[in-house]
Amino acid sequence: MLLLIRGEESAELLEPRKTKIGVLGLGSSIPTPPEGIQAELIVVRTFDELNEPAVSAAVRGKIVVFNNDYITYGKSVIYRNQGATKAAKLGAVAALIRSVTPYSMYTLHTGQQSYQKGVKNIPVASITVEDARMLQRYQDKGAKMVLKLHLHSETFPDTTSRNVVAEIKGSQKPEKVVIVSGHIDSWDVGVGALDDGCGAFISWYALALLKSLNLQAKRTVRAVLWTAEEPGLKGVIEYDRAHKHELENFTFIMESDEGVFTPLGIEYAAGKKGGCVIKEIVKLLAPINATYTKSYDSVSSDITIWAQQIPTGSLYNKNENYFWWHHSAADRLDLIVPDNLDKGTAVWASVAYIIADLKDEFPREFNDISTLSNVKLIEKLKETFKQKYT
Ligand SMILES: [Zn+2]
Repeated sequence: MLLLIRGEESAELLEPRKTKIGVLGLGSSIPTPPEGIQAELIVVRTFDELNEPAVSAAVRGKIVVFNNDYITYGKSVIYRNQGATKAAKLGAVAALIRSVTPYSMYTLHTGQQSYQKGVKNIPVASITVEDARMLQRYQDKGAKMVLKLHLHSETFPDTTSRNVVAEIKGSQKPEKVVIVSGHIDSWDVGVGALDDGCGAFISWYALALLKSLNLQAKRTVRAVLWTAEEPGLKGVIEYDRAHKHELENFTFIMESDEGVFTPLGIEYAAGKKGGCVIKEIVKLLAPINATYTKSYDSVSSDITIWAQQIPTGSLYNKNENYFWWHHSAADRLDLIVPDNLDKGTAVWASVAYIIADLKDEFPREFNDISTLSNVKLIEKLKETFKQKYT
């Protein structure tokens, strides 16, 4: 995959007053020329606003600032993902995206973005919620805004990274597999403790825990730490390709990629019957109050590629503030509470072990989503979740 290393990044507002603006380049953004880009700013709240005739006619030669109010991560992240392309189509020279977060202490949040084939690639970076709002206020007052932007990065040749795999072979049906997983890559800012160090940790330690208790289930329990999730689920897509021949043997696949705060139970995409089994299993987690369940059409990030194909589950945890830190320099080890990791490991190990040790096969059925064919649905889910989680 393409390897980019972040270089010096800066932005200075020159008009209507001189002040520094914090910027953080987005994944796969091209750099500015060495001398930077100096241009007028135009602020929009939404793509609809960008496409209003008077606005779109004024975009050429300017830097477009997207000041989209956070609704949910899934709904707001399209501005980070597609903002540069939408602005470039109208002749913009760069784009600045308000960080996708419900809360800010002048925090910059990076993340993946995609250029569209045939559309000019322009540099794109995130700015803070505070600066996006300030620029909006200037525009609303009719002030002319000029900004100088430097985004430098170095591109290196493609390189190899690998999924990390460990397993405890099943005693009776070793070919059948239950997977616990998280992703091992993270953004360069911060250390990726929440996204997704803790998910990788509980997956690895679930196996260590089973091993230390000398528990060998009937089926194999496998931990997989996916590589290259952030640039677009690359590790899991390669794993899917390499394991096509044994997908029918994958009994249940779990991934934790939304933080490991206080565990509440299990989210699943496993249909009605599978849901019944999971509800019975989590009753055993009453001593740590992790007995809740939630049913979805697909769960978590990497493993959405198996929605409607293999039953999947994710850690249901008290993560309502997850996006305060997500993809920012604040995603540090300080956020991780050891007790939550212990409990998360306990949930992961218990659920994986019990499913792997079931006498009968885990039900292989899914929510009935009849409006789209399965193939179309899976494509749609993959696209949505690629945008939602990366
Ligand atoms: Zn993640």
